[in-house]
Amino acid sequence: MKKILFLFTGKALYLGLTCISAFALLFVFLGCNSPANPDPPPLLREAYTAKLRTFAPGAKLFVLTFDDGPSNVPGAPHTENLLNALNNLNAGLTEDDPNYIKATMFLIGMRIDALDPILDTGINFIEKEKRKTERRALVQRMLADGHEVANHSYTHTYLGGGTFVDGIVEDGLSIYDIPDISGIPELAKFKNRQWPLNKAEIANEIQECQDTIQKAIYGDDNYKNFPYVSKFFRTPFTSIENTTNLENATAELNLPIIHGPSSDDYFSWHTPQEIADIIWRDRYEKISINHDPVTGTKIIDVLNIIIPRLKDEGWYFVTLSELDNHLDSKLIPGQIYVNF
Ligand SMILES: [Zn+2]
Repeated sequence: MKKILFLFTGKALYLGLTCISAFALLFVFLGCNSPANPDPPPLLREAYTAKLRTFAPGAKLFVLTFDDGPSNVPGAPHTENLLNALNNLNAGLTEDDPNYIKATMFLIGMRIDALDPILDTGINFIEKEKRKTERRALVQRMLADGHEVANHSYTHTYLGGGTFVDGIVEDGLSIYDIPDISGIPELAKFKNRQWPLNKAEIANEIQECQDTIQKAIYGDDNYKNFPYVSKFFRTPFTSIENTTNLENATAELNLPIIHGPSSDDYFSWHTPQEIADIIWRDRYEKISINHDPVTGTKIIDVLNIIIPRLKDEGWYFVTLSELDNHLDSKLIPGQIYVNF
């Protein structure tokens, strides 16, 4: 009875009207920012169906991979800078040209959704939706530019076997390496986990990222109607210690785990020339782990050094799917690969 009476007080009426107005505004906002059209434009749809180039037997194929995107924030378009740099290096070439540089981007689900505890902290709902729209557009652009997108988990948590206490991993990784998701209400389903994660928890991390990539491309309403675009998984921190759970989870989700030599581009003390030299040293492993330029534009300087150098030696820059197709490598879901 008390509750009913309260509804008719002046204060409650005021509160009620305020709420209704807020919902109306929200509805208008969402209507403006979430186009109802669930079908991607024909040009993009074509790009999504990974057109694989073919190369002569024995051709030198190299896969540049970039982890941890997309990461554009207002005033700092990190991922856009990377895509623009690749476009500049591709000037005058069409995507079907063997000399066109294609990369493979291992994406973090919560970054696409603008829920990253570092990049997206302290923003309101409207800003969050705006960023999500922009990050989804970046995923679409990656594909439209000819690159491949793949799965790097939803929250970029540690999937290995170390002890995890209040965000601190005690086996060599610092607290700053592990995203602290405790303050993000939308990530409630990922909280209260025990490390090492069990198979279901690992599968959940991967599945959520698969779905987020699909939604970025096909929209919220239609994303289940298309085959998964992401065909590969890479663990955060390239951890493999929780091996059985990791292999079983990825096997069920039909994803091979692709690691490879790291360029160590995340070490602040390396110069672009030193990072380029590391990639050069490891070139016959055919794959290189690099990062979205969220912490700076150094990787773009690296690309401007290493790409002409490798091209001069006859290398082609291909997606993982193109390398896999070329080598007929028959990758097995659930298996961990470090080179090709
Ligand atoms: Zn990562």
